[in-house]
Amino acid sequence: MVINLADVGHMTRIKTKRTCSKGHSFYKSTDCPTCPICEKEKKPEDGFLALLSSPARNALSNHGVDQLEKLAQYSVKDLLKLHGLGKASLPLLSQALMEKGLKI
Ligand SMILES: [Zn+2]
Repeated sequence: MVINLADVGHMTRIKTKRTCSKGHSFYKSTDCPTCPICEKEKKPEDGFLALLSSPARNALSNHGVDQLEKLAQYSVKDLLKLHGLGKASLPLLSQALMEKGLKI
């Protein structure tokens, strides 16, 4: 049997009360300083990027496309020219756009 020391360490780590720069209080172990409340708040805006694979997501953010409104300014042809963005991403993107009443 192999015991993974990293796992054991993680389980016994004590969570401490922390406060983020925006004043949210939350409990986290010291090596994980991300505030869950801030994480949740920024979710809706880049929600459509979360649907994509990381090459596709990087392709869009490298071109400053971090909102559906910006994405809607691209055509399908232009999007496929972006390095990392494949045809597989298109249905996901159009779905996300449709929910906002937009389209590519
Ligand atoms: Zn916060």
